[in-house]
Amino acid sequence: KAVDQLTLDEAKAEVGPLRDRLTQWGREYYEQDNPSVEDYVYDRQYQRLVEIESRFPQLVTPDSPTQRVGGQAETQLKKVRHEIPMLSMGDVFSVDELHDFNQRQQALLPDRKRWEYNLELKIDGLSLSLVYENGKLVQGSTRGNGTIGEDVTANVMTIKDVPHQLKEPLSIEFRGECYMPKEAFVKLNQQREANGKPVFANPRNAAAGSLRQLDPSVTKHRELATFMYYIPEYQKLGLKTQAQALDKMRELGFNVNPSNRVVDSKEGLADYIEEYTAKRDQLSYGIDGIVEKVNDLDTQIKLGNTVKVPRWEIAYKFPPEEQATVVHDIEWTV
Ligand code: NAD
Repeated sequence: KAVDQLTLDEAKAEVGPLRDRLTQWGREYYEQDNPSVEDYVYDRQYQRLVEIESRFPQLVTPDSPTQRVGGQAETQLKKVRHEIPMLSMGDVFSVDELHDFNQRQQALLPDRKRWEYNLELKIDGLSLSLVYENGKLVQGSTRGNGTIGEDVTANVMTIKDVPHQLKEPLSIEFRGECYMPKEAFVKLNQQREANGKPVFANPRNAAAGSLRQLDPSVTKHRELATFMYYIPEYQKLGLKTQAQALDKMRELGFNVNPSNRVVDSKEGLADYIEEYTAKRDQLSYGIDGIVEKVNDLDTQIKLGNTVKVPRWEIAYKFPPEEQATVVHDIEWTV
């Protein structure tokens, strides 16, 4: 039944099981790196929960998947607190929805006349935080539930493209995505199959499973890579824009994805999306969409965050690639 047709009682009866289902899928995905349903199945159900909760706000609970980031950091790895939370990201599924998002966003700061966006590829991996002291890598951690992540320093030390020493003696945190290149993923699954081990569902889960290992020598053989994209305390480096932040990270020796582009028009946005939708399969790493970020960093701060997502960035998600091969497409009729 369409959400706008639901009575309060019907909505009440539906949200409980819907949340339980999403929580269970979230656990499998974020904590066990082993999802049982395809992402688009999860996304559709999640979207329905968002719609029900926005129509009946009295049904929102603090433990709803719409109010929480990721999963719990439940492995035996040491825990790390993120003073600046590592958030999730809102998503849209069409260019029209993206324009609507931009209009709502721009209405929050009516005095700002010029809106520039930095567009980036949405790398299909897991978020990674890297902390440097005097230019030396001292800590690597996962997002976890956004506030408490897992300490994966020893594992990160084995990732070839992560600099142990920066080109400047900075004491600051950088964030980005840890991912497994497509080729490494195929190879790993072939090996696992040959050894009678369960295969990973996709490169993102393979990357997460490989980074969240107790034994760094396992991670070392998994051929992980990174693209760094965020400097939470950009003020310390005198940076003004997201595009500058990416350039700065390149200079410092990080691997930064080369595909970012600054645009200031709807056409620019649509062109980028069209271009990378077409190029997606040729890339050596997986992407599941495009990230649009307000380019001006102080404006990002002014826009701020909700409990779960920043208001200054949004993901445009590509349509699912191979629906026909999906075995878990469940229709939840109510
Ligand atoms: P998300 O992964 O869709 O988006 C947020 C993340 O994007 C950030 O945390 C960051 O790590 C990443 N990212 C990649 N490139 C980036 C860039 N250039 N700039 C900034 N960030 C970038 O959000 P989420 O809340 O972590 O997870 C939701 C996703 O997980 C959905 O796609 C959902 O389908 C999937 N999921 C699937 C299942 C399942 O059972 N199949 C369960 C839970 C979640």
